Amino acid sequence: MAELSPILKQATPVLAERGEGVYLYGEDGRRYLDFTAGIGVTSTGHCHPRVVEAVREQAGKLIHGQYTTVMHRPLLTLSERLSEVLPEGLDSLFYVNSGSEAVEAALRLTRHATGRPNVVVFHGSFHGRTIGAATMTTSATKFRAGFAPLMGGVVVSPFPTAFRYGWSEEEATRFALRELDYTLQTLTSPAETAAFFVEPVLGEGGYVPANSAFMRGLRERADRHGILLVVDEVQTGFGRTGRFWGHDHFDVGSDVLITAKGLASGFPLSAIAASRDLMAKAWPGSQGGTYGGNAVACAAALATLDVVQSEGLVENAATQGARLREGLAKVAADVSAIGDVRGLGLMLGNEFVDKDGNPDPAAAARVQQAASAAGLLLLTCGAAGNVVRMIPPLVVNADQIDEGLGLWREAVNAGMS
Ligand code: PMP
Repeated sequence: MAELSPILKQATPVLAERGEGVYLYGEDGRRYLDFTAGIGVTSTGHCHPRVVEAVREQAGKLIHGQYTTVMHRPLLTLSERLSEVLPEGLDSLFYVNSGSEAVEAALRLTRHATGRPNVVVFHGSFHGRTIGAATMTTSATKFRAGFAPLMGGVVVSPFPTAFRYGWSEEEATRFALRELDYTLQTLTSPAETAAFFVEPVLGEGGYVPANSAFMRGLRERADRHGILLVVDEVQTGFGRTGRFWGHDHFDVGSDVLITAKGLASGFPLSAIAASRDLMAKAWPGSQGGTYGGNAVACAAALATLDVVQSEGLVENAATQGARLREGLAKVAADVSAIGDVRGLGLMLGNEFVDKDGNPDPAAAARVQQAASAAGLLLLTCGAAGNVVRMIPPLVVNADQIDEGLGLWREAVNAGMS
């Protein structure tokens, strides 16, 4: 048997056999509380019965229609239903398979639509692993190092990462916007700049939320210069942050929206939404791919949307997110190594620092591993890997949050002793 490539690095020792709701079960019969949700994907919980049923039914009718060859009902119905939840004005969409592909598609779309070559991304962002998306990714060097030459036309400007700078949010935001103006004066003129790509909450970069002043600053500059504002909602979308879209927190519109992960409960599906006018500027056939908008994935997404709406998962993310955050803040108050607890909704991070306030990835790794041993699955993130993040399925209830908090305290005690 060929061995699995060592490129594949596994964060937990679990060999998962099945999942149900917020729990995963190992082949060894052990039960784990899953606060990773497959990196923010299984928002409806593992194997939600409505998703399973929709997938079974669709798989028996049509698995692969191929939407550039024949159209199929799941894709049409999904598109209609998504228009109920997409921000105003984003009335045209198409599908690919992953977050990275959707980022690439949005990149080509914005270049096409504006005729401008460059895009601005924000320092610490993660947009994907393909060469274009990797060039736009600055959350850690491991996503870029050794892949040169990367793509041209990407300019990086600061994100308001207040804790890292040791500044207030206002100071960090003022700095980031001033630097963005400088970037537009020195590195890419507005006339050359197609788009700003921004995550409403830096995900892989350390779970750092943007804020209204920053996002309004982007919107205002975008409008002034005819630059498109692209929100990468791959991790923040579909209710994760306690609002349907992460950027809903900031009261700014978007010109292009990218969604994936939570969209289809684990089936590979991503979508790019924009206005009809903008989409019409791209060549027909210039986007898409063999598997994009797969019929079973679309059926899973439709069932996902049904569950998110009928079970009130967006509201639940806000309610349970507040409960989790309060509990995490209590633990952090007793443990000086947890320097910051932050995030939005059910997308929360705990930043581990040493006694001088520097990132402490070793502490984060010890706690993450102690959590696995205790039965709580967690992931780390951040440039140094010193942020332990929590992204439970959005179906999590108060008892399960409390169970997670109990295990978290145990893991922190074990990891820091
Ligand atoms: N954008 C963001 C914000 C992400 O969090 C991710 C994945 N972590 C991606 C893009 C890339 O998605 P994928 O892994 O599906 O290619």
